[in-house]
Amino acid sequence: MQTILEIRNLSKTYGNLKAVDGISFKIPAGICFGLLGPNGAGKTTTIEMIEGITKPSSGEIFYKGKLIDNQFSQEAGIQFQSTALMDFVTVREILKLFTSFYEKTLPIEQLARQCNLDSFLDQYATKLSGGQRQRLLLALALINDPQILFLDEPTTGLDPQARRHFWQLIESIKQQGKTIVLTTHYMDEAEALCDHLVIVDQGNIIEQGSPQQLLGRHFDTICIQLDDTEISRLPSGIAVSVQQINDQIQIETDRLEQTLSKLIEAGVNLSSLRIRNRTLEDLFLKLTGSQLRETLQEAL
Ligand code: ATP
Repeated sequence: MQTILEIRNLSKTYGNLKAVDGISFKIPAGICFGLLGPNGAGKTTTIEMIEGITKPSSGEIFYKGKLIDNQFSQEAGIQFQSTALMDFVTVREILKLFTSFYEKTLPIEQLARQCNLDSFLDQYATKLSGGQRQRLLLALALINDPQILFLDEPTTGLDPQARRHFWQLIESIKQQGKTIVLTTHYMDEAEALCDHLVIVDQGNIIEQGSPQQLLGRHFDTICIQLDDTEISRLPSGIAVSVQQINDQIQIETDRLEQTLSKLIEAGVNLSSLRIRNRTLEDLFLKLTGSQLRETLQEAL
């Protein structure tokens, strides 16, 4: 697959802080690329350097094999984390205004259809619901029919139904052959949508690969969950590790049948039993959990 975007040794320093510390990656055309990391990891700074909003301290960015230039501005679409919408302006008027920023644009009706905004074209943009507003911001990002689309935490604050709906929109955009660069804090979202993930922490890349590659690389166990009332009945030596989380015990095992048999033999009540595969959320906590602990300790 052809590389559409490449960053080499990209850094951004604010005083003594290395917000982004010499990171490099390539994005193949047509994939959904996920940039993940805890708060303050350097995701937005990285994306903003690519988008030309923040000037890199050092490093290079290549679009279609050439140092980034005006072609990128014309062919990229950006949905920002927060965008202020003007009062007393309709959805149609905002879309029309944005068409004036680009050489090539899509018809407003087509965008409205694609982003399910047909019924809201004549409504004031500030009166839209959270999900409708995000769909408008997506339509604005698509206005120039971009080849590469940046989505910065696009589903934050949406209810589960609106999030799923937004995922379907992202899938449909991907099916048009566009490249998507997604930053998100929702690991289920990254798992559902992304073909390749880069996980950053403290300005450095700490892991990368497809969701399945990453899970396969880091986990060879599955999780059994039970109510913590059963903790006293657990037989010894049943699992790789046992953790207590809220009112549940989580048993990690690489021998499911054997572990279940031992639980039954020991008289453990299995009515609360849940068995689950490892998720990206488990991986994220495994890779970045130390930082969370530090933050917690600082807070105590
Ligand atoms: P979040 O998930 O919370 O959006 P992030 O991964 O996008 O976090 P960044 O916003 O890129 O993180 O911030 C990386 C680091 O750089 C943070 O420590 C942040 O405080 C710092 N930083 C970002 N912008 C500036 C700035 N303009 N001046 C000084 N420090 C900044």
